[in-house]
Amino acid sequence: MSRADRADGASEIRPPSIDRMAGWPSLTPLIERAGRPLVIETLRAWVEAKRGMPEVADEAACAVWCAARLKPFVEPSQRRVFNLTGTVLHTNLGRAVLAEEAIAAAVEAMRSPTTLEYDLGGGARGERDDHIAPWLCRLTGAEAATAVNNNAAAVLLVLSELAAGREVIVSRGELIEIGGAFRIPDIMARAGCRLVEVGTTNRTHLKDYAAAIGPETAAIMKVHPSNYAIQGFTRSVPAAELVPLAREKGVALIEDLGSGTLADLETWGLPHEPTAREAVEAGVDVVTFSGDKLLGGPQAGLVVGRKPMIQRIARNPMKRALRLDKVRLAALEATLRLYADPTRLAERLPTIRNLARPAAAIRAVAERLMPSVRAVLGDRARVSVVEVRGQIGSGALPVDLLPSFALALQAKGLDRIADSFRRLPIPVIGRIGDGALHFDLRTLDDEAAFVAQLDKLDVVAG
Ligand SMILES: *Cc1c(COP(=O)(O)O)cnc(C)c1O
Repeated sequence: MSRADRADGASEIRPPSIDRMAGWPSLTPLIERAGRPLVIETLRAWVEAKRGMPEVADEAACAVWCAARLKPFVEPSQRRVFNLTGTVLHTNLGRAVLAEEAIAAAVEAMRSPTTLEYDLGGGARGERDDHIAPWLCRLTGAEAATAVNNNAAAVLLVLSELAAGREVIVSRGELIEIGGAFRIPDIMARAGCRLVEVGTTNRTHLKDYAAAIGPETAAIMKVHPSNYAIQGFTRSVPAAELVPLAREKGVALIEDLGSGTLADLETWGLPHEPTAREAVEAGVDVVTFSGDKLLGGPQAGLVVGRKPMIQRIARNPMKRALRLDKVRLAALEATLRLYADPTRLAERLPTIRNLARPAAAIRAVAERLMPSVRAVLGDRARVSVVEVRGQIGSGALPVDLLPSFALALQAKGLDRIADSFRRLPIPVIGRIGDGALHFDLRTLDDEAAFVAQLDKLDVVAG
């Protein structure tokens, strides 16, 4: 530290030069990670902030300050977390976790040029849909298939191709909003269609649809109610009953299955969820569903159905704007391939594996982990194993709950404890309810990593 005499006789603390500070050994690791320009910029800010203070020349204090300030630049913003919320397909936590086969395919596609739109047979141009359409047709019984960015895009594209400038009939009980501002009436408007609502919130009959069909009608659309359920005095018309009406009147029948699934969930003791094959076999012309919900693949919107309509949809200029990239197509193809052997899905597809996990196995995990969590929390929380109900999430079966087991943490400052778990190197996300912080262990995929980081838990007092 050097002091220069000022005119008034007092001495001023002069910081070392920025160049000298950048050479401090304590800053070397930060320069490695963040790069020299960002560290220099931060050192200037340090000198500015500490001007005139003795601290300005303190190497250790400066290194800590710079590291904290540069944290957002050296740590990725999107981070891996433990989803212990009890919601298996949690939209805010990224929905489906991919199968190893899908991950490997995506990595390969990222690293190399691929046959994305190239036909090796003739050395000519190919179609990107050709990688997944045969699988989707095989798994749903449809004549043709295409894929876009997500199911919202699929619905937008289908409506815009088949019904722009005309009317689409939807039951009032199916005019849903799902998270993230996807509302059926808004999508209709954006697709340039006129929405014709029929029936009432709780009851819609076949005759309501029949009465609404006129010369301007382009389509009837069914929408999976997804994240809500109407109970009591209700009536909705299954797609199968709408097929003869749509055929007779010459209008398209579209179904947005939402989650949709390619496998029968009852195989694993779960409640029934409509499959894409059921919709196709019922005679629906065009069926849309998500890639990253129950299907267990990457984000995508899948469209299957009658060939002439799918061809029109795939040729719509909007398809170009909504198409999938090679990485997700590779992951999707690998995921679909797993469905060729449904008997091994529970072993290979994480979504099905998590959903099919027996409650007894989850309980065993909870009991194995309880001592470590107790030990780290000491007298700050009471820890017990409790029976809980989880959810599939992403709109599937909102009222059918999955019997599961959780670690329940009870303490005075629950929010603080929840916060400390979120600040772990791999943040742990639980759910607060019934006076406890619950960690539902159905979706814990790496017990060792969970336990290994517990000693870093830092519950801020207060
Ligand atoms: C989830 C869902 C969508 C939106 O699907 P994304 O793949 O998230 O775009 C659309 N319709 C229904 C009925 C849904 O459940």
